[in-house]
Amino acid sequence: MEAGDSLRHHCGVVGISSQEEINLPEQLFYGLFSLQHRGQESAGLAYHRQGKIISYRDVGMVSRALSHYQTENHPSRVGIGHVRYSTHGTDKLENAQPIVVSCSKGEIALAHNGNISNSDALQKTLIAEGSIFQSTTDTELLLHMIARSPKATFHDALVECLGVIEGAYCFLMMHEDTMIAVRDPWGFRPLVMGTRPGQVLLASETCALEFFQAKDIREIAPGEIVTVEGTRVRTERISPRDPPHRAHCIFELIYFARPDSEVFARSVHMVRKRMGELLARDDDVKADIVIPIPDSGNSAALGYAAASGLPLEHGLTRNHYMGRTFIQPTTAMREFGVRMKLNPVREAIGGKRVIVVDDSLVRGTTSRQIVRLLRDGGAREVHLRLSSPPIRHPCFFGIDIPTPQELIANRLDPDGIAREIGADSVRFLPIESLRECVAAPGDFCYACFSGSYPFPVRDPAIRRKH
Ligand code: SF4
Repeated sequence: MEAGDSLRHHCGVVGISSQEEINLPEQLFYGLFSLQHRGQESAGLAYHRQGKIISYRDVGMVSRALSHYQTENHPSRVGIGHVRYSTHGTDKLENAQPIVVSCSKGEIALAHNGNISNSDALQKTLIAEGSIFQSTTDTELLLHMIARSPKATFHDALVECLGVIEGAYCFLMMHEDTMIAVRDPWGFRPLVMGTRPGQVLLASETCALEFFQAKDIREIAPGEIVTVEGTRVRTERISPRDPPHRAHCIFELIYFARPDSEVFARSVHMVRKRMGELLARDDDVKADIVIPIPDSGNSAALGYAAASGLPLEHGLTRNHYMGRTFIQPTTAMREFGVRMKLNPVREAIGGKRVIVVDDSLVRGTTSRQIVRLLRDGGAREVHLRLSSPPIRHPCFFGIDIPTPQELIANRLDPDGIAREIGADSVRFLPIESLRECVAAPGDFCYACFSGSYPFPVRDPAIRRKH
């Protein structure tokens, strides 16, 4: 899935609680840097110092937005950080996180990954009661609810609010000098915890914890609330609701998570490789080589090549120095398109029948450019293989998917798609095969492929957005 035609994840979070004072913002900087793939439009952090929560947020990638923390020293014992994509075209600084408020329950910082699917109805009620919202994120909603709760303590107010909100969420919070993590009962998004001497660490993905060489890594269970004071960890359940099954987002394994992470207790790389193997299993196309669209198709292409017996080639080189901020709809961008990011290796693909593997197909616009790139590079035939089923439906759980009308799989069958993008053939991984790639297929959400949602989304505003 290439830039300009990709699904957008909303966020990544990281948190550290330490017995001793350390330069915590610098550590958060590196943790967020490991999660950069989960959000590249703004970054922020908050830490507790001398009885107060101090925060800083800015637009841009971590290395730009938070670079001063690499050289400054801010001793602290607890802090949280956040990287973010904007939603629905908004990348305003007000929407950057963590959000920090001072209210009747004390000082609170909140970083959120996901989507509260009944947020519109809850927000309308609060506005009618006099609340004023500063951002357009549903993250702020939880803070308003906690602040207005009649419960006496922050903890009791949080537990009360978690009983009301619905959807996909991982919250990482700081209440004064305590760190709190919450994962929704369906377990849509990943959230993991680990330790290193004198410290407890929380992150969206294991790749961030491994950067810190953390030990005892475990998932925050769906529906679990974890409270960390120093290195003392207390855990409890969001009561009383427990859904009949989990709904882990299968797209975390297909595309969002980093391949070196373990997500939902599975190696992302190995699952993607298996997807490639199964994609090859029923494919009878005659070809000479297999190439990935780097980096999103790398693991699946390995699996496809291994299962098909075809050689894996490095047919496309990616320019890794192009961040999202560089991708602007300028005249140059329209002229050069995907060539600014990918370049064919002529010696590898010249005169060959090429199978090109990617993770998914959204609008098809970038795929058309890639096919043209490969033909211009000398490929004799180009066969596009996708390691996921056709995307046909909106996501109400934190992922921006274009409107159903924009999704190419809603307009055309695979042969029609091949004609439209100029490929010799196009094949998708069937949903039954996708289910074979995970140990407990009933515990995943496949709604953007199947249209079958884990629970009915009642909020009409959420439905209208898509
Ligand atoms: S609808 Fe698709 S993207 Fe959204 S949570 Fe389900 S599997 Fe993930």
